[in-house]
Amino acid sequence: MSEAEAKEKEKPVKLEKVAEDTGEFVGKGLRKAWSVTKSFGKGLVETIDKKEEPKDKETCPHCSASVSSDSNFCAICGKKLAEK
Ligand SMILES: [Zn+2]
Repeated sequence: MSEAEAKEKEKPVKLEKVAEDTGEFVGKGLRKAWSVTKSFGKGLVETIDKKEEPKDKETCPHCSASVSSDSNFCAICGKKLAEK
């Protein structure tokens, strides 16, 4: 068997090794990407949950707008809200 023939026979084995390494690399990448996706989803859900949290609201006596009860002035008409 010549040296060239020997190398030719080694090729499929080497390709399999490359494929295996590539698969492992891609697999690791996918796992990392999935972990990032999960973190993104978790952050998204937490943000939506925060937004859906009921906030203390009161009605402006001047323009009837719904305003945050911890502010002293109406965000819509700018007038002072009732003293607490
Ligand atoms: Zn107002």
